[in-house]
Amino acid sequence: MATEVKRALCFGCWLQGGVQATVQDGKVVKLKGEPGHPVNRGWICERSKAFIEHLYHEDRLNYPLKSVGERGGGKWERISWEQALDEVAKKFEQIKKEYGAEAVASTGGTGRGFSQIFKARFMNLFGSPNNANAGQWCSVVSRHIDAAIYGAGASRSVRPPCKCAVIWGGNPAESLACTYSKLLEAKDNGTRFIVIDPKYSETAADLADEWLQLRPGTDAALALGWLNVIIEEGLYDNDFVERWGYGFDDLKERVKQYPPERVAEITWIPEEKIVQSARLYATSKPASIIWGVKSDMQGINVTSITHAKCILRAITGNLDVIGGDMLSGPSEKANYGPVFEYMDMLPQQQRSKQLGADSHKLWCWPGYELIHKVAEPYWYGKGLSSGFVPGCHEPDVWTAILTGKPYQVKGLITGACNPLVAYPNSKRIYKALKNPDLEISVVAEQWMTPTAMLADYVFPITNWLEHPQMYTQTFQGHGNVVSLGERIVEPLYERRPDYYLYQGLGLRLGQGKYWHDTLDEEWDWCIEPLLGELKMHSAQEFAKKKRWWIPPTVEKRYETTDPKTGKPKGFATHTGKVELYSTILEKLGYNPLPFYEEPPETPLSDPKLSRRYPFILMTGSRFRPMHHSEHRQIRSLRQLYPYPTVEINPDTARKLGIGEGNWVVIETKRGKIKQKAKLTSKIHPRMIEVQHGWWFPEEIAEDPILYRVFESNANVLTPDDDRYCDPPTGAVNFVPLLCRVYPVKKYT
Ligand code: SF4
Repeated sequence: MATEVKRALCFGCWLQGGVQATVQDGKVVKLKGEPGHPVNRGWICERSKAFIEHLYHEDRLNYPLKSVGERGGGKWERISWEQALDEVAKKFEQIKKEYGAEAVASTGGTGRGFSQIFKARFMNLFGSPNNANAGQWCSVVSRHIDAAIYGAGASRSVRPPCKCAVIWGGNPAESLACTYSKLLEAKDNGTRFIVIDPKYSETAADLADEWLQLRPGTDAALALGWLNVIIEEGLYDNDFVERWGYGFDDLKERVKQYPPERVAEITWIPEEKIVQSARLYATSKPASIIWGVKSDMQGINVTSITHAKCILRAITGNLDVIGGDMLSGPSEKANYGPVFEYMDMLPQQQRSKQLGADSHKLWCWPGYELIHKVAEPYWYGKGLSSGFVPGCHEPDVWTAILTGKPYQVKGLITGACNPLVAYPNSKRIYKALKNPDLEISVVAEQWMTPTAMLADYVFPITNWLEHPQMYTQTFQGHGNVVSLGERIVEPLYERRPDYYLYQGLGLRLGQGKYWHDTLDEEWDWCIEPLLGELKMHSAQEFAKKKRWWIPPTVEKRYETTDPKTGKPKGFATHTGKVELYSTILEKLGYNPLPFYEEPPETPLSDPKLSRRYPFILMTGSRFRPMHHSEHRQIRSLRQLYPYPTVEINPDTARKLGIGEGNWVVIETKRGKIKQKAKLTSKIHPRMIEVQHGWWFPEEIAEDPILYRVFESNANVLTPDDDRYCDPPTGAVNFVPLLCRVYPVKKYT
């Protein structure tokens, strides 16, 4: 019996911990954490272990499929990759000729080993600016705002000698499982924790010295309240502000509008807690504010929340210091992001046609170009992180399909994503995917999903055990680190890495000189500068022999000398400083300073609606072992979490006649769904937390059932119209919304 141990990167979520895979006679038999790996230090979660089941599951897609008959009817013809690529390429070419390249759009999900970056390359070379992706409300959007304010994203981990860590809008016990031990260790070593969350989360229970239970959607007000306290009490780093802060006087005036007593009214946090926590953060050196996804999901306040957090980090002197918030620029030893995607190949006239370019300018090409202008010379002549930005405005894709405005979108590629479940306003997306004006819908997937069921072509793609893995931060360009994992087994059946979908289309559409023959060669090119230095020949050699490369940390890069000018490097912004007052937001026509605006759907902004829908709904929280809309087919994981659950305070439940485990209806003004009640006093009596990502792969596939996609799917409840979206970035509003809840007598 031949046994081999190989080392991969786990792409069960975006953390990408190190995994050792035991392969016996060509079959993966065991996965365990890789000792000493810098991300997970030898530990992996249950989701990662279940990827063996994922690899060999009988429901995986193994062959390209072409829909025959009506879309969604479930009649498929098995065809070859070559036939599928030929037919899709021919159709795209025809659409481009008749309607313009912009009439082909794409959607995508998280960047976990799937080729969003190669999809972006294909789209740039094809000439379409219309790449939509979930980064618009998850992670990428706040990195992009960081880039506008101080020229790079801030790191997202706690490291010694951090004295105070602020966990703001996240629950890392659930969402960052394999790095969570580092937080527990920090706690043991004396780091004080402030946890800001409407719910008393697992993280709050484990770590919080101070738990701030804020009203959902009021994070921007709290951040401005902290700034008020810190500035009024002189707790900021005056030297840093004088030398490296741009627009402090304007900021000072702005935060006067947010005294603690007013912020207490807005946030429901007692005034003294606001003041004490602001002091704790500002006087503990170094201190860190950890990114949390809920900050990216609050619609109209998203830019202000992140901008205000950037300012907090900067004026307290915690930016780019070890133990505080280091700036994580791209890897100097890689070809990444803009270079990798051939962004410069998208013609100017096509950029201006991007959906959302005139309404959400920071997220789209106008904002990206302003950032890139200074980022390119600053970051190795290549610029900053990409792979997702500049994205088009996601809801506009569906509008364009449904209304033909501003022009008709005729073709769609969905890359490893299930928008019908994962994107807001599922029922509108359903109508768009069924619309005959959408002449072709192509999906790259591992499973048949509700979205794939409505496609014309489905390409079967590999999971991370079947292809060589490159650390996302390396190829996207938001971390000065190179890390790779080995291909553990060859792809099964006719599955291929999704790279070969975009490359295959590209080769058929005249993009030949921009694509390598294999994904392995692409990764060789990606880390070519490092391979040369290490005298290695290939990325896979690096994956086998070295695994990761992390250069020594350089603190306060902005103070290091630029050899070209002999002056300090400063920040990669238009003023060379941290833009407390953002010149980019100003140029784009937005408010250059952070502010708080009451979200459109709260008891305060819409009291009439709240009489009918009295509870504040939150959704989008990550929960183990699932990851977004994935893994409902995996038996070992589904046993751990068989049903969707909604969290309700026991007092509220009693008044509503709801018992533990009862199926209940959750209803907003947009629709209703059913989930099982989980009663917990961790949640405020006026708040409801609905799980996202639910569909039922064991159910009937054909339209209109579509695996009961509308039954428990939180996005039946969520809006996507512009009134709810953040003007600069278009980030959508998953929190807060208004809902009502009532028992279902008999679940059908
Ligand atoms: S948390 Fe789990 S799924 Fe995510 S990278 Fe770590 S081991 Fe993999």
